[in-house]
Amino acid sequence: MLKYKPATNFQLVFFVFLTGVFFLINPRVQAQFMGPEAYIDREGVWKSKFIAVCWEQKPDKYIDQRRFVREAVATYIGSEGGNSKYIFLETEEGVWPECNKDNHVPGIWIKIRDITPRSQVGRQYVRDAAGNKLKLKGEPQSLPTRMILNFEFEQTVSVKNLCFRSGLNLKECIEVVAVHEFLHALSFLHEQLRSDADPECKELWERKRDVIGYDPDFAETDYDPDSIMNYCGDIYKSPIQLSNTDKHMLIKIMEF
Ligand SMILES: [Zn+2]
Repeated sequence: MLKYKPATNFQLVFFVFLTGVFFLINPRVQAQFMGPEAYIDREGVWKSKFIAVCWEQKPDKYIDQRRFVREAVATYIGSEGGNSKYIFLETEEGVWPECNKDNHVPGIWIKIRDITPRSQVGRQYVRDAAGNKLKLKGEPQSLPTRMILNFEFEQTVSVKNLCFRSGLNLKECIEVVAVHEFLHALSFLHEQLRSDADPECKELWERKRDVIGYDPDFAETDYDPDSIMNYCGDIYKSPIQLSNTDKHMLIKIMEF
């Protein structure tokens, strides 16, 4: 019968060393040790780089404004501008189509309304009252991530005033708001919600109802006053500016 020779101390030490090297070079293991460098909801991170986007209204109105949004998102968030690998799917005509209400494929569904723009944070799932994902045949059931964008700002003058005060015109205002909302849709939370945010800033926003996510995480990283997700900074910069941390996170988030 074949018998294995007992390992020497040297062989055991070498084996432990090799295992350590494997864990350090394996990107999946690295992802577990590497903290995100912004404030995100880990539960909402999209697992695929391809994300469908559609409009809830018919395509005959706001043609230019829809294009401003699509181009700004491609430039500042999508793979075109190089800040991430996310690809926001377009039709062959190079537009985002009208949403198919009968087919709730996971994606970002945009409604155009003259109210305060907003977006659900990250990918959405059917949940029970306690917030647990409900499963069907062992798989969590997806829902569209709903977003509202504003192309008029006639009823919501405050947003327009913030843009204008920072020197933005209406087109740039539509673009910067869209970039902010799309980062929410990719699971970014407001930076001022972090426990280590500037106390004065936190106090200012403490009583405002806000989404805190299902699994909010910023690990050991620092609060980022320059984030486009930080209401206490100037998010309405012209030209649009993602902070270095925002950009870093857009790449890192895909490893989660
Ligand atoms: Zn926001």
